[in-house]
Amino acid sequence: MRRAGGRLLIGASVEHAGFDLSLSDEVGADLATGAAALLPALKDREPVEHWAGLRPGTPDPWPIVGRLSERLHVAAGHFRNGILLAPLTARMIAPLVLDQQPVDHRLAIPEAMLPGRFAGSRRLSS
Ligand SMILES: Cc1cc2nc3c(=O)[nH]c(=O)nc-3n(C[C@H](O)[C@H](O)[C@H](O)COP(=O)(O)OP(=O)(O)OC[C@H]3O[C@@H](n4cnc5c(N)ncnc54)[C@H](O)[C@@H]3O)c2cc1C
Repeated sequence: MRRAGGRLLIGASVEHAGFDLSLSDEVGADLATGAAALLPALKDREPVEHWAGLRPGTPDPWPIVGRLSERLHVAAGHFRNGILLAPLTARMIAPLVLDQQPVDHRLAIPEAMLPGRFAGSRRLSS
């Protein structure tokens, strides 16, 4: 992806690493090698910077969307698709926050996404 200013963004790797933003030289080198294989003009270019971001996920493949308590709602855990799903998630959770019925039944939050599925888990209940 080309960014403003002419920078080229090369990515990305995925690791199940918890809350860890540390960088790996090996992964950086792999990405540079892969990029140069696709675009030989990059072969002698030095990377300007490396960075790591988080893709918060859940123990199952589903995000957590719903009400935790009367005044606390959660919409998280979208892993690789949080940007893509932001408009849909917003339309699903807005009626809940506003105490309204969804205008479209297809926007009802699927049971698989409700926070209650982790009710026995120490992570969400502590
Ligand atoms: C390199 C990269 C490329 C991506 N590309 C895409 C894409 O093309 N399309 C797409 O839809 N999505 C993409 N994503 C995923 C998207 O960025 C996330 O799904 C989205 O940011 C999640 O939004 P969020 O508000 O739930 O979490 P975030 O915006 O990540 O915010 C979560 C917050 O919780 C904090 N946090 C996270 N874990 C912990 C923890 N264990 N303990 C304490 N605090 C914690 C973080 O510091 C952060 O402040 C990409 C992510 C990365 C890293």
